Amino acid sequence: MTTVIDGRKISAEIKAEVAAGVEKLKAESGITPGLAVIIVGEDPGSTIYVRNKEKACAETGIYSEKHELPADVSEEELLSLVYRLNDDPKIHGLLVQLPLPKHIDEDKVIDAIEVKKDVDGFTPVNVGNMLIGKECFLPCTPHGIIVLLQRSGVEIAGKDAVIVGRSNIVGKPAAVLLLQNNATVTICHSKTKDLAAHTGRADILVVGIGQPKMITADMVKAGAAIVDAGINRNEEGKVVGDVDYDGVFDKVGAITPVPGGVGLMTVAMLMFNTLEAAKRAAV
Ligand code: NDP
Repeated sequence: MTTVIDGRKISAEIKAEVAAGVEKLKAESGITPGLAVIIVGEDPGSTIYVRNKEKACAETGIYSEKHELPADVSEEELLSLVYRLNDDPKIHGLLVQLPLPKHIDEDKVIDAIEVKKDVDGFTPVNVGNMLIGKECFLPCTPHGIIVLLQRSGVEIAGKDAVIVGRSNIVGKPAAVLLLQNNATVTICHSKTKDLAAHTGRADILVVGIGQPKMITADMVKAGAAIVDAGINRNEEGKVVGDVDYDGVFDKVGAITPVPGGVGLMTVAMLMFNTLEAAKRAAV
């Protein structure tokens, strides 16, 4: 029988654990974890993500600030806000919602975030520390993917893990974390020859490509665990993943639904990282 990897349940567990950790930190050190989110312009997707982050902060007892800047804000003004929040003792986690407008150098802005407050795990120092297995903030989506697998009882060590997609926020860090959990890892992308030959031998298949229902039943191994990070809108405006969920369901051993899977974990792991940042600031 196929197991549905329940992102709703597991993300609620993580948030409840964070809420307990927040209470404990407040009682022991008087510190309330604080998260600041900067959003530039009015991208509808970004607006929804930021609203979900604020809601999760309220649920977990984390103090949150939203800084909304107009789409035509200068890079200099944005950077000066980042520097101000870097120095603000109420704020332990700071993130800039991506994408940014084209006139702003995204790399420069991310690089300006204080590493100790980089709860998205996107700064080059954080990424480097993750790669060599040193203390860092793990990027939220791939960290959420690992937690989903672990809490659903999917064994990672020794398994063949195949990742489709090599972006800096999903595919590449997911590959690193699966490797650190002792999987044998293959990364596929748009130039991969015979994608189905790779996906078809995956015990664990992680997909983050941004193409609705691209992974079909003939491309997956019977009994595999499938993690679908894709968030797409189909022709009817419904949110669907990168995997043909209904088509593969009876063939696979476990699968994350979309919605109700990886997306919820991303926000939960952001709360986890913000608590971690506040704990580190407390010592
Ligand atoms: P990107 O567009 O940055 O990367 C997509 C990756 O998929 C690229 O590496 C690309 O290859 C690869 N790819 C595209 N088409 C194919 C194909 N036909 N065959 C094989 N590989 C292909 O996307 P993101 O990583 O930012 O996002 C991926 C998906 O995950 C999206 O649906 C996005 O909405 C979702 N997402 C979900 C999050 C969550 O919280 N759950 C967080 C972030 C993203 P190449 O490098 O060769 O171009």
